[in-house]
Amino acid sequence: MNVTVMGLGTHGGGAGAVRDLCRRGARVTLTDRRTAEELAAPLAALGCEPAVLKLGGHDPADFLNADLIVASPAVPFRHELLEAARSAGVPVTTELALAAAALPAGVTTAAVTGSNGKSTTCAFLHAMLRAKHARLGRGAAWLAGNGGGSLLDDIDRVRPGDAVVWEVSSFQLEYLRETAPFRGALRADAAVVTNFAPNHLDRHQSLAAYRSAKQGLLENLRPADTAVLNAADADVRDWPTAARRVLFETRPCPLPGAHNAQNAAAAEAAARALGCTAEDVEEGLKTAVLPPHRLQGVAERDGVRFVDDSAATTPESVIAALEALPGPLFLIAGGADKGADLAAAAAAIAQRAAGAYFIGTTGPRWRDLVAAANPKCPALNCGTLPAAFAAAVAAARQAGGGTVLLSPGCSSLDQFASYEARGATFAAMASDDVDSSLLE
Ligand code: ADP
Repeated sequence: MNVTVMGLGTHGGGAGAVRDLCRRGARVTLTDRRTAEELAAPLAALGCEPAVLKLGGHDPADFLNADLIVASPAVPFRHELLEAARSAGVPVTTELALAAAALPAGVTTAAVTGSNGKSTTCAFLHAMLRAKHARLGRGAAWLAGNGGGSLLDDIDRVRPGDAVVWEVSSFQLEYLRETAPFRGALRADAAVVTNFAPNHLDRHQSLAAYRSAKQGLLENLRPADTAVLNAADADVRDWPTAARRVLFETRPCPLPGAHNAQNAAAAEAAARALGCTAEDVEEGLKTAVLPPHRLQGVAERDGVRFVDDSAATTPESVIAALEALPGPLFLIAGGADKGADLAAAAAAIAQRAAGAYFIGTTGPRWRDLVAAANPKCPALNCGTLPAAFAAAVAAARQAGGGTVLLSPGCSSLDQFASYEARGATFAAMASDDVDSSLLE
């Protein structure tokens, strides 16, 4: 089979697909818009030789003459080369669908989507299922999907009786829904929708299209499955599904903020539907390995605390952060424009923050909205993260202490390679070895 993999990426999904296809004897063409130089690190880590490498751009022939195309979910679903392939009868799918289709029968599956809280909910649910299998003394729990890495690398070790938790983005759902022959490949005994808010409208064109992609997760559920939906979200609560519906509210958990109490309740509801006991749930909440860059304290000195919430890429997460942390808060926000409505978050900033320092493409808009909502709230457009950092630290010191919080509410891609890189930059500046001239 001639398979074209489009988009190597840096999160491991594309690499996992290439390795799996090579192992299975496919003739793999790996193509990426980025150059070999830009992809040096993931290429070196690939560990196998694709038959053809087409980097720094794409060749339409690789799409028209393939038997199958595996696209990165970061590639727009309606990309012209994918559309041309579809017109030529070439099926298009993603790494997640390949992995889901390769699962043996008898694996318990959960899938989590939503605008905010997916990774946190998945981490809790994964740990709860791990606790269940430890109690039973058999089976393993796997975490897969959006969160990084590829389950294809471990697919031969997944056994009947194991459990898999899939983190599923709207981009992946778009591909899962419309692509034959992988349509319906992602099965879920329990599917969770954490919440729904306008997001990614740059990519999905309309709110209706984004909602419809998310609703795709519930479409394949059967009456014996469970749909775990947010009781407090008037939109999600009523989404159509053939499955049994369970509404979650909130429950105590070790993380700060009402939003994390909701994530914990979502994980608990799914875990109980999948046979976890109350003890498994408690154990999972205690032992969950939470991903970094989510309200993570990274340093503290001279009475100033530094909190990295770089994974906050939606306005709702900024509101959640402002509500979760004690003041005084010196907030750094802004970044690339995803078409989200910033007004509610700007109002929350104007009300809660002791100072706000904006960066990136959306910086000027944030600044104007905050200034209009509360002229007394110091709001500055600083351009870059180092400039905003210096201004926020100076203000915190002048106030005699407080928390400098990076909770951008926007994607990082206008100034950074990823939200992880943005968070790492913040943490490096916050740590002791920072160049102190930055802080003057
Ligand atoms: P996702 O995987 O959907 O991006 P994460 O769990 O990684 O969600 O959290 C990303 C950001 O969103 C973090 O800044 C976190 O504090 C915030 N967040 C997490 N859960 C929620 C929620 N239920 N509502 C609003 N914001 C949330």
